[in-house]
Amino acid sequence: MLDLLTSHFNAVFTSLRLRGKISKGDIETSCEQIRQALLESDVALEVVESFVAQIAQRSIDALALIQPGSNQAKAVFEVVNSSLVEILGGSARRVRFSKNPPTVIMLAGLQGAGKTTLAGKLAKFFADQGNTPLLVASDLQRPNAVTQLQILGQSIGVAVFAPEAGNGVGDPVKVAQAGVEFAKAKQYNMVIVDTAGRLGIDVELMKQAGDIRDALSPDEILFVVDAMIGQDALRTSQAFLDGVGFDGVVLTKLDGDARGGAALSIASLTKRPIMFVSTGEKLGDFDIFHPDRMASRILGMGDVATLAEAAKAAFDGDTSAKLEAKFASGQDFTLEDFLDQLQAMSKMGSISKILGMLPGSGAMKKAIDSLDEGEIIATKSIVQSMTPIERRDPKVLNGSRRSRIALGAGRAVSDVNNLIDRFSAAQKMIKQVRNGATPAGIPGMAGMGMPAIAPKSAAMRPKKKSKSGNPAKRAQEQSQ
Ligand code: GDP
Repeated sequence: MLDLLTSHFNAVFTSLRLRGKISKGDIETSCEQIRQALLESDVALEVVESFVAQIAQRSIDALALIQPGSNQAKAVFEVVNSSLVEILGGSARRVRFSKNPPTVIMLAGLQGAGKTTLAGKLAKFFADQGNTPLLVASDLQRPNAVTQLQILGQSIGVAVFAPEAGNGVGDPVKVAQAGVEFAKAKQYNMVIVDTAGRLGIDVELMKQAGDIRDALSPDEILFVVDAMIGQDALRTSQAFLDGVGFDGVVLTKLDGDARGGAALSIASLTKRPIMFVSTGEKLGDFDIFHPDRMASRILGMGDVATLAEAAKAAFDGDTSAKLEAKFASGQDFTLEDFLDQLQAMSKMGSISKILGMLPGSGAMKKAIDSLDEGEIIATKSIVQSMTPIERRDPKVLNGSRRSRIALGAGRAVSDVNNLIDRFSAAQKMIKQVRNGATPAGIPGMAGMGMPAIAPKSAAMRPKKKSKSGNPAKRAQEQSQ
């Protein structure tokens, strides 16, 4: 969603880098380009004006202080980066846990903003961290909101307090209060309260949200807002801030084609931090918001920190340790290991999402967008159609086995042949790498979802056996 902004920032910095010495006039031109880009991306006018004035002044100050011969474009880049981090809210803030559990989190926002979906995502996120959340169904207005929450809770194994069926019936304040009492009695350490929204701001909506707030005194009120509604997101957040008040913001639908305006304006306008972002309809499409990582993405430097975290979570200790041990002991990398890796990679999300986090991915956008995710699924299904013996030793794969595999995977035999050929070439290359060759790309694995593997250190490489000085022993070794 930030592609437009990223490409504008790239253009500005490419032109600055081409100038050896940056003049005040260059700064002014760049600032005007940035101003236009931010306005085009729906950033609120007052935020744009103060941001541009700030980077202009800071850049001029930075250039005045810079040592002759230093990289001036880099100095301006750093000014823009740190100013972006500031308008995005500075540093990430975590949810404040109450000293007297349960910690109560109330969600507020318009109907359709994604509150109920978010309630499920938050519950999963906190449960995965060892908490015991209880979901409370206080949206008694929107048709099926209660059932939706129950289904979500069931899918993640989190309890849902839903004494009323909703659909316009029941008192949401009473449900919320009873939910907190229930959590206390049953020792849940968190309560996440889903509340009703309306299609637009109205007095009744604000009053109901205000009544729930007064009845619960929540530890956190999170305002949930759809990033796709552009400038309306700002008007709505101001109305909720005045009418109900909130402690943090959750931006949803960041996967859509929103231009980033809400993300860039909301924190500085409301003086409340963006705490989480929602990037899709699935429960896993959810991230803690990090202003510095967002700034890094906007400036085309990718988000390597998030990528590393996702990889760490996906490649669980066992898989990585198993692979490392195999590598160190000189055993072959097999199709079974490959399948483990493909499975771990699919846990990290779509390949385009993973590649999009790499620095410079903006320039590869077209290539990333045209990536065929289906290829990876097809590769996985071919490997899954093999028996464990075949995965361990593809040499046994004669014609009839290949036909059987192709049939099982719903692919052509030529696809199976192709995969095996590319795998064998890669396996050979891995052997060479292990024996000390540089791991400069593993040919044939492109498009197979295969992360490069390189030996951690010389110590990990299996030692070549030294030849014995005893001629008889050497002859015996050679015959082995
Ligand atoms: P509520 O009325 O605020 O409770 O909104 P819902 O949770 O029912 O969400 C409204 C719609 O938006 C549903 O179809 C959700 O699947 C969808 N949705 C929620 N969050 C996201 C998101 O981050 N990205 C996308 N693409 N859709 C979302």
